[in-house]
Amino acid sequence: MNKEFTSKHTASVHAGAAGDLQYNGLITPVFPSSAYDYEGVPITLYPRYFNTPNQKIVAEKLAVLEKAADGIIFSSGMAAIVTTLMALLKKGDHVVFQRDLYGGTFYAITKEFPKYGLSFTFVEGDNPEDFLHALTPETKLIYVESPSNPLLKIIDLARVAEIARQRGILTMIDNTFASPINQNPITLGIDIVAHSGTKYIGGHSDICCGAVLSSKEIIARVLESAIHFGGTLDAHTCWLVERSIKTLALRVNQQNINAQKIAEALSETAEVDHVYYPGLPSHPSHAIAAAQMTGFGGMLSFEVSHMDTNKLMSRLQLIRRAVSLGGVESTITSPAKTSHAKLTKPERMASGVTDQLLRLSVGIEDGNDLIDDLLQAIKKN
Ligand SMILES: *Cc1c(COP(=O)(O)O)cnc(C)c1O
Repeated sequence: MNKEFTSKHTASVHAGAAGDLQYNGLITPVFPSSAYDYEGVPITLYPRYFNTPNQKIVAEKLAVLEKAADGIIFSSGMAAIVTTLMALLKKGDHVVFQRDLYGGTFYAITKEFPKYGLSFTFVEGDNPEDFLHALTPETKLIYVESPSNPLLKIIDLARVAEIARQRGILTMIDNTFASPINQNPITLGIDIVAHSGTKYIGGHSDICCGAVLSSKEIIARVLESAIHFGGTLDAHTCWLVERSIKTLALRVNQQNINAQKIAEALSETAEVDHVYYPGLPSHPSHAIAAAQMTGFGGMLSFEVSHMDTNKLMSRLQLIRRAVSLGGVESTITSPAKTSHAKLTKPERMASGVTDQLLRLSVGIEDGNDLIDDLLQAIKKN
């Protein structure tokens, strides 16, 4: 199980895999028991203890892919994120968050933190030095998302980690957009990686799960609270997640290739005003992205001013309008009407999320088919 994997493709298929030890089959069986013998074992197995076989196998697979020592699989991305924050923080602590967060995380912080005596500061933009200036003597954690939603901002993760390390502050990243294939923040000095596995890890728009990956010591602390909060994932879904991850590197590599092609094609289209994609040399943080990511990801956003965005989306024949992201099928969404709908229009404009912005989650279809679909919908005729 502790085999070193140098290739993400090989690790996606084989890491953590136990196989069927009873019948010598290739595939991990589903172990659905919620009741185990308690005699002669240090800790009884129980689904809410996050220690049953399918849970452990999928957590191990993700830990290997994220180059982390240990991990926990949860029932959703939010269960992973909120459990981790609550486990590591206590009354009176302060956290510095990036402002461009996933909406669910932003609302969890602003609605829940004050109830528990936790304080926080939001940092606008992507300059690590601004995080430094937001620190207080009570700051225990810095939390970032890179690439961010929906404008694909990139933060220099090694610099954020350095700022925090020097002061004994923990760092945490939501690595959902990059996936473990394109970015391993732990190798850049970040302490904790969270994922919404509902996106790339599940990858087929049919599973809700989450994960946290970190050192053995931090995972042990998170686990203690996780057992109390109970955001556990059942064996059947864990088994599906293990199956999904076998194609993670394959899927994400195809999504990287398609997204790059689409970003370049849209950049050359007169009707498109702006394309946000870290793989474009015109992206303001392209050099940082190239240094800290091994692929630029399958998410991109673009702006059009000549057409109502709903009209544009209804003209698409292949790409479906949908919330969520990371599936094998390409989907498109208006962030102003979905992730950023609760903001006022001036707040949205200030953050760059205009009514004319569209966010594309690029799937594994043929890239030229996707470009054809987008261009026939965008072009004036
Ligand atoms: C979807 C998402 C989440 C929340 O995950 P759930 O699985 O819906 O709980 C957190 N962060 C990002 C970046 C996401 O896209």
